[in-house]
Amino acid sequence: MTKQQHTGSFAERVLAWFDKNGRKHLPWQQDVTPYKVWVSEIMLQQTQVTTVIPYFERFMASFPSVEHLAEASQDDVLHHWTGLGYYARARNLHKAANTLVDKYNGEFPYTLEEVMDLPGIGRSTAGAILSLSRNMRFPILDGNVKRVLARYYAIGGWPGQKKVENQLWEVAEKNTPANPEDGRCANYTQVMMDLGAMICTRSKPKCDDCPLQADCIAYAQGAQTDYPGKKPKKALPEKSTFMIVAQFNSQVYLEQRPSTGIWGGLYGFIEVSSLEEGVAQLNKRGIVVDETRALEGFRHTFSHFHLDITPVVAVVNSAPSKRVAETASRWFSLNEPIEVGLAAPTTKIIQQLVN
Ligand code: SF4
Repeated sequence: MTKQQHTGSFAERVLAWFDKNGRKHLPWQQDVTPYKVWVSEIMLQQTQVTTVIPYFERFMASFPSVEHLAEASQDDVLHHWTGLGYYARARNLHKAANTLVDKYNGEFPYTLEEVMDLPGIGRSTAGAILSLSRNMRFPILDGNVKRVLARYYAIGGWPGQKKVENQLWEVAEKNTPANPEDGRCANYTQVMMDLGAMICTRSKPKCDDCPLQADCIAYAQGAQTDYPGKKPKKALPEKSTFMIVAQFNSQVYLEQRPSTGIWGGLYGFIEVSSLEEGVAQLNKRGIVVDETRALEGFRHTFSHFHLDITPVVAVVNSAPSKRVAETASRWFSLNEPIEVGLAAPTTKIIQQLVN
């Protein structure tokens, strides 16, 4: 391994690295606006850049401005999110767009507090929006930045603990270059994300290419992967459920789920604890089941539990009555794209049906 020389402050070194190696061609980095940065930051919260790019481009094509997003229906917004997961993010984007239009004339506010008041925007995302789009001096502390700083300063403990998080915010704040003298807050925010994503990666950091190697404590200790500390492990509880797929010819019956809770606002199959209950629920909705057939079961894991899903097709031979169920419900054709938001297991079951 080559030991690097220490030249310049933390910010100077990472900015020099950014000029040579930083990412400058991502779609949200072109004609930068707070709106584009906001949407990209929310999409990137739980998802890799390469996955996000096509979603971002489709989202911008359909909702090119805050106003377009505010005017869209929640179904349409969730449809554009199908496959990205963590749907509360999309519902919050939609709500926040409405707040921006109603309260701020469609413009992003300028203070950190006002941006943080919008649904779904925490301190780090608010800082990223303001610094990346307006070059304002606000530190960020997303997962990537936490990793770089925890290693560089050898800050132990799990960043989910307030004490550890506060220590990390302190060093994040300290290293962010002053504005307006340097005028490089946007680049600094970007490079901290880039270093975490490209160099100081989770399992095999590329320390020999890192501008911070000379005085990185975790590197000196040879203990890079000990930082940041892991979340104390708890075995996830296991739950099971039946998803009842009422099928009439090439149509399937989906209901919109309540707007809060798991898969809120998305369309899904009726979820019940037994097959009998599923048939009874369909009966209540005027759907008479002629026969049932189990599909291949699978496990869907959430952050807080495993859900074992048994999908069952309930074949319906006679045209269902038009009785309207309490929730929004519709028959969808399997021969056409389904243009509402669907949870991952719903999409998986539909794939089993059409293959
Ligand atoms: S030297 Fe290695 S561990 Fe330290 S910040 Fe750079 S990539 Fe991360």
